[in-house]
Amino acid sequence: MHDQTIAELATALERGECSSVELTRAALERIERAADLNAFITVTPESALAEAEAADAARARGEAGPLTGIPIAHKDIFCTEGVRTSCASRMLENFVPPYDAFVVERLRAAGTVSVGKTNMDEFAMGSSNETSYFGAVKNPWDRQAVPGGSSGGSAAAVAAGLVPAATGTDTGGSIRQPAALTGISGLKPTYGRVSRYGIVAFASSLDQAGPMASSAEDLAILLQGMAGFDRRDSTCVERPVPDYRAQMAATDLRGLRVGLPREFLEAEGVDAEVSGSISAAAQALGDAGAEVREISLPNAGMAVPVYYVIAPAEASSNLSRFDGVRYGYRCEAPADLEDLYKRSRGEGFGEEVKRRIMVGTYALSAGYYDAYYHKAQQVRRLVQQDFARAFESVDVIAGPTAPSTAFPLGAKADDPVQMYLSDIFTIAVNLAGLPALSVPAGFGGGRPIGLQLIGSHFDEGRLLGAAHGYQQITDWHRQRPPVEE
Ligand code: GLN
Repeated sequence: MHDQTIAELATALERGECSSVELTRAALERIERAADLNAFITVTPESALAEAEAADAARARGEAGPLTGIPIAHKDIFCTEGVRTSCASRMLENFVPPYDAFVVERLRAAGTVSVGKTNMDEFAMGSSNETSYFGAVKNPWDRQAVPGGSSGGSAAAVAAGLVPAATGTDTGGSIRQPAALTGISGLKPTYGRVSRYGIVAFASSLDQAGPMASSAEDLAILLQGMAGFDRRDSTCVERPVPDYRAQMAATDLRGLRVGLPREFLEAEGVDAEVSGSISAAAQALGDAGAEVREISLPNAGMAVPVYYVIAPAEASSNLSRFDGVRYGYRCEAPADLEDLYKRSRGEGFGEEVKRRIMVGTYALSAGYYDAYYHKAQQVRRLVQQDFARAFESVDVIAGPTAPSTAFPLGAKADDPVQMYLSDIFTIAVNLAGLPALSVPAGFGGGRPIGLQLIGSHFDEGRLLGAAHGYQQITDWHRQRPPVEE
């Protein structure tokens, strides 16, 4: 059962071939057996089994939907009522929220069973899951390699078949890049499509929650459960939620206009195997009737530097709430208030988080604000305009998700700039607020490669349709990592 999609499991549940309690038990057993992956920070067997029983009872009453009884996991950045939400930081090691995040609330209402909270980079800052206070996550395809980040625990959990799906958040690539590196499918929706309420904030103008699963169809089912307006997030957009599965099914690859950005194809430092797989994917889409053409995103190269001004600036402001006074970590025996602030933050945050806070504080300081933050916002606009122009002539944009396959644990841990370059193809999408997804498209040295598809604002249905179409003509998404017993 562990290699089945949500759509397949839903059919099995519907036919009475299995129960949610059975699925949940199986997931809990697999999580325990795969403990060496370190994919979870917290596992909640009792509440999971209680939720599974409730789901089975709802089904017996004829009240089941497409997600009823499906075990899932939440990234440990989503607040969960009564369940520790650490954000993989010592700062929140013992934080137990009194409420659920919107996404958790919605997926619970849709009948999913939450088995626990997945590991991640501390405060979602990273591309390898190595900045976690709870230790690195291993890639199920190669236990010496990283799973990507920051949603690395969610990605590893789905790739290893511990759960059929998990939630993630994506500020600069944190759903798509780990999805690519672990051979699963992951979607970052349009900014404003899914409420950010109850997500520990990193960079508020970029953060967006989305699903991670093993097929585009499953992403559509999960997005249906997650999307919607919510007053508690002022940037959430009040707009009807379409039937994503219907839109997906209605999308035909024939006639679909696919743009390949020249800047992505010619980017330096891209593995030959990655370029080869992306060319093959473009070829496959073309053979299926899509009109594939080259396009240009002239300012794409500015995305990483712009992001590393804007994201740290917003992070430095968001993380100022962790002061050792109201909640979170507090140092032992502070001498005075100043000492309390300094040591609580100094001891509570890890190195990467501190680096971001310092960069962001500097960029926002008087005298530098115009030179850095303001300038970055202007270039951000140029990046957005590139995409707007491109979408005048294409329906989706295709390219690699990440420049390389999963790299060895430790390989980039001491070189922040190399680490930041893992996201050269994903970051521009967040700056522009667009929806984008990653689907498996090949292998290099036995490690998965991801194809990124980017859509126009609120065009998730067609984007999912393009990905689903691709998954009808390829079976990369069906590959599973070798089992280590
Ligand atoms: N890797 C990027 C960073 O470290 C993006 C992280 C994310 O999307 N949360 O900021």
